[in-house]
Amino acid sequence: MAFESLSTRLSDLEPGIRMIETAYTNGLKLVLGEYGNMTIRTGTKDIDRKQAGLVAKILQRNSADILGIAGNQEKTRALLAETQKTLASAYESWNEALDLWDRLEKSYRKIFTDDHTCVVGETCIEKAVVSCTACGERRATQCPEENSTTTT
Ligand SMILES: [Zn+2]
Repeated sequence: MAFESLSTRLSDLEPGIRMIETAYTNGLKLVLGEYGNMTIRTGTKDIDRKQAGLVAKILQRNSADILGIAGNQEKTRALLAETQKTLASAYESWNEALDLWDRLEKSYRKIFTDDHTCVVGETCIEKAVVSCTACGERRATQCPEENSTTTT
């Protein structure tokens, strides 16, 4: 599944991304050297020197994670291109699934008019993006303030 491979990669790159974000939010700049090395420079003048020094030490210690992204420009670009495609295809699947859910549940309710229970089991799952109309109505009567989370 596309979603799984995307989340695996995010967790793989998360430490490196976090380090790069940390560098720039602390006014530091990462400069790549010719030999795949990395130098940390102060990007802006008005930074807390003591804080920047501490952050620089942390960055230096985690340079392998940073270089996993910054040191592989082509690989990172390819990953971005792939991620963009994954998002486009996930969005398409998402829209298709929403449409399928909506039209199939409506069809089901029209044919099986005696069934006023949940269409997927005892109840719609907690993380459901859309709940069935039975669960939606039940939740709306139980907690009216959560009306916005259910769709019909
Ligand atoms: Zn339900």
